Order: sequence, then structure tokens, then C-alpha cells
Amino acid sequence: MVQIVNQKTFSGISPIELMEATYKASENFQVRAFFEAKDEIIKTGKYSEEEFFEILDAMIDAETERKLVLEKMRGLEPLFLNEIADKIKDFPPENVIRDVTYLKEQGYVAEIIEIKTKMVKKKIKGEEKEVEVKEFFYRYQIKDIPDDFVEHYFEPVSIVFDAGVCCQCGWCSAICPVNAIEVTADTLKIDDDACMKCGLCFSVCPRSFSIDQANKSIKKLDKSLNWSDKTGAYINVYSASTTKDEIKKVRQDGGIVTSLVQYLLEEKLVDAVVAVQHSEDLWRPEPIIVEDVKDLYKTAGTKYANSPSLTIIDQCKKYEKIAFVGVPCMMKAIEKATLFPSGLPFFKNIRYKIGLFCMESFPYEGIIKLAKEQFNKDIHELTKMNIGGGKFIINVKSGEQLDVPLKDVQQYARDSCHFCEDLTSDYADISVGSIGSQDGWSSVITRSKEADEIYNDAIKAGLIESQSLKDVKPGQFLVEKIGGIKRNKCKPIDLEKKE
Ligand SMILES: Cc1cc2nc3c(=O)[nH]c(=O)nc-3n(C[C@H](O)[C@H](O)[C@H](O)COP(=O)(O)OP(=O)(O)OC[C@H]3O[C@@H](n4cnc5c(N)ncnc54)[C@H](O)[C@@H]3O)c2cc1C
Ligand code: SF4
Ligand code: SF4
Ligand code: SF4
Repeated sequence: MVQIVNQKTFSGISPIELMEATYKASENFQVRAFFEAKDEIIKTGKYSEEEFFEILDAMIDAETERKLVLEKMRGLEPLFLNEIADKIKDFPPENVIRDVTYLKEQGYVAEIIEIKTKMVKKKIKGEEKEVEVKEFFYRYQIKDIPDDFVEHYFEPVSIVFDAGVCCQCGWCSAICPVNAIEVTADTLKIDDDACMKCGLCFSVCPRSFSIDQANKSIKKLDKSLNWSDKTGAYINVYSASTTKDEIKKVRQDGGIVTSLVQYLLEEKLVDAVVAVQHSEDLWRPEPIIVEDVKDLYKTAGTKYANSPSLTIIDQCKKYEKIAFVGVPCMMKAIEKATLFPSGLPFFKNIRYKIGLFCMESFPYEGIIKLAKEQFNKDIHELTKMNIGGGKFIINVKSGEQLDVPLKDVQQYARDSCHFCEDLTSDYADISVGSIGSQDGWSSVITRSKEADEIYNDAIKAGLIESQSLKDVKPGQFLVEKIGGIKRNKCKPIDLEKKE
């Protein structure tokens, strides 16, 4: 659930400290750029005057808080994020964690990474072996800041696209206050004349700087959560299937995503759902806003080409509460915009994030090629695509089912997916995938108490049958294993590198 983590919490701060910090905050390039472009922003119509001031206020508050946190970090030795939050009691711990992460990006704070190796026993092909495992420890300390220090400037996200790591989620284009960014499934263009160089797109982009350490530290504050280094924070894990025959006809796996969003719509817990449907070109996904359950069934089923679904979020402003269905990179994008730069979500109406598991996605042209080269089929002949048991499987109109080893189709996947470390939508409220469960069933991870309650309410309403993922084979073990593999093979992001 989207949280507002920014709060006006300056009560324990002396007036002098607060004045100095506010003065420094007003010099911040993002605050200035946003403030100076007020007329342009309101003319564009993306944010109303009221929203403009709400965002500006939140940006100034967050920047002021950061400047105060920075002062309080003076003299501290390198510490873990949670240790810093323990020492600086003037603000909520999640704010301090968030602030230190951003201060690092602004150039004030150093991240010190310690790598330790240890030997662990692992079963490899049935044989128990000792293998070396690396562990990473991240500590943070204020840098020696010279008098003439200039805060780091955040480039517009063309820098992300040019480095070949953009996942085409579309979030930057929804956020940009002057509509300067256009994102499609394959392209990203910035209108340089319209861009006011506020760097907000960079702050919220899931591929600009990492929030993984901040997320881990914030999640560890909540003692009701379990933690896995491979699949993130969770309350419970389930294996589940829909009970609805109409959903069984169109679902990908257990039909859990469609069942859950049906429940949310029927119970009026949301006014609309953002999901994807086939566009005019079969198997080319396009994002769609669904208000009515009867329109939901055309969204079911996996389209393996990527969909820049977050581009349409700003069209959902008229709804009070929405649910968003998407892949892990999109879940991270939404989470990041609730943390940075202001702690104020740009789109506060995203009430539920339903995240899919995702190993990779394909460019639409790649899917056409894959069907032709691997199966000698035209894309229009395909009725279903699926990944399971290490195979890429297709069903065709004739009723035939064909498969090839998954490794043979990886050449068609998007390069930018190789920079993705998240299999299970760590940043979702509820994650759903096929790995771990039997055919016709989905693996489900609930990631907060509220999300777990909603899931169990959908079971009580008779939409879903469910059991613990720990009681089925291959179960949670396989989800953890593949989650770990994805983390390990993820390539590091280098924004200096031009493709
Ligand atoms: C690109 C991609 C790769 C995936 N890879 C894996 C994997 O490696 N391992 C695994 O276990 N699971 C993977 N999944 C998830 C899996 O295919 C199912 O979506 C998931 O198990 C939910 O099944 P369901 O029957 O509950 O969903 P359904 O009830 O059939 O609903 C599916 C939902 O997914 C949405 N959707 C479909 N395609 C897309 C898309 N391209 N982008 C955003 N939303 C979409 C639909 O709009 C619908 O809301 C992947 C999904 C996608 C989109
Ligand atoms: S926000 Fe998404 S679409 Fe925009 S640059 Fe970042 S990854 Fe690409
Ligand atoms: S493109 Fe990025 S930097 Fe330029 S105005 Fe939009 S959000 Fe700001
Ligand atoms: S592999 Fe990662 S980057 Fe690629 S579509 Fe899936 S979540 Fe997004």
C-alpha cells in the first residue's frame, strides 16, 4: 500500500537549526527548478495549483529534514542504515533511512561496502559440497565536505535510456511535471525545449540509483514481517487457484490476479484497475484502465512482450483508489516515488500493487521472431504462451502444445532485463507467479498485514481456494532458489556507459 512517509516532524529542532536547514533546502536544484517552472507546470495541466504546492511543500520539508540529518551525521563512524536511524531520534527511522540514501546520491554521504566470504554446505546435483558465498555489508558515513561543494545534479532520464538499462516502465513520463517525456515499449524521448531540468524523473526511476538497502532496512523495522534475501519481505506464502469458471477459461496460471482484482472491484475497495490487454496486434500488450468486472476477463493471461503500463497512471487521477497490476520493475518504480524526492507519492491513489513474478520480458518483435524461428509458427496462430519446468511452451489454434528449452529463447529477451535483480516483485503488496506451484495454481506472496487480510477476505468470499506454499511441491524452496539465481546473474548498472 502506498505510504506517505514524509511528515512535518521538526518539533524537537531548535528554530536556528531549522532556519539554517530550510535556507539550505531552498538552494536545492530540484526545489528551485520545480518552483521556477510553476507557471509552465500548471499550464501543462499535469498537476493542479493545489497539487503543485503540495508537492513543493513536501520537497522543501524533505530537503530540510535531509539537511538536518546530515548535520546529525557529523562525527558518526561508518554505520548500517538502521544504526544511523537508531542514533538520530529526531525523525521517524524510515525517514532517516530514506534521507541517508538520498544524501548519498546528492554526494554528501559515502557508502562503504564490506565483502565477507564464508563457506556453506550446498547440495549440487545430489552431492553435498562446500561452496564459497560472498556477503555484502553496506555502511554509511558523512564525507569530508569542502566549502565549495556543489550538490550532485540529477540528469533527466535520457541518461538511463542511453546506458541501455531503461526497463520502459513509463513511470518517468507519468511523473514529469511538464510532460516532456514520451515512453513506448521500445523508445524513450525527451523534449529538451520543454524539460526544466528538475531531475524528478531521475529520482523516481527504478534504474537510476538503488533503493534496495533502504527497502531492506525499512522492512526490518516491521517485526511482523519475515525477510528473505532472495524474495524480499513477506507475511505469508500460498499456492492458490481461482474457483470461478469464467476466470479458469482465460487465466494464465491460478487466475489469482484476476480473482483478486475482481474482489477489489466488487467490494468497492478500488474504483479502477490498471492491467493490460492485447492491442490491435495480437500479443502486443497495451495498458488499460478497467472499472467494470465484465471488462476484466480480457486482461487475464500473460503477454510476454513488455507493456509500459505506468505511462497511463496520470489518466487515473479521477479515481480515488486504484489497483495496479505489473511486473517487478514497475512495483519498484512506484515504491521509489513514494520515497523520493519528497516522501510524498505523486499518485496517492495507487492503493494496491499486484506484482507478477518475472524472469524476463521480450520486445514484441522478439516474440514474433521467437514464434517463427523456434516453432515455425505465425504469432496469430498462438493461443497461449507459458514458461514452466525450464521450458517455453506455446499452445496453438489447432490444439497442439509445443515447447523448447527456456535457454533457447533467452536470446530474444530484452537486454535491459539482464539488469533486473527482482524475480518476485519485492515491492508489491501481493506478488503472484507460477514458479513453486502445480499447473493451474499460482504461488502468492503477501507482503503486509493488510495485504494478507485482503487475500484471506477474497478466500472467504469464495473466489479463491488456497493452501500454504510450504505444503506443496516444489513450493517455496523453488521460488527462493530461482529468486537467488536472478539476483546473482543480475548485471550491475553503469549509467556512464553508452550503448
Ligand atoms: C513478462 C512476464 C514474465 C513473467 N515471467 C514469469 C516467470 O519467469 N516465472 C513466473 O513464475 N511467473 C512469471 N510471470 C507471471 C505469470 O506469467 C502469471 O502472470 C502469474 O503467475 C499470474 O497468473 P494468474 O493466472 O494469477 O494471472 P491472470 O489471472 O491470468 O492475470 C494476469 C494478469 O497479468 C497482467 N499482465 C499480463 N501480461 C502483462 C504484461 N506484459 N505486463 C504487465 N501485466 C501483464 C494481466 O493484465 C492480468 O491482470 C511473468 C509475467 C509476465 C507479464
Ligand atoms: S522511469 Fe522507467 S521508463 Fe523512465 S527511464 Fe526509468 S526505467 Fe525507463
Ligand atoms: S524530463 Fe525529467 S528533468 Fe526534465 S522536466 Fe521532466 S522530470 Fe524534470
Ligand atoms: S525482468 Fe525485470 S526489467 Fe524485465 S520486465 Fe521483468 S521486471 Fe521488468
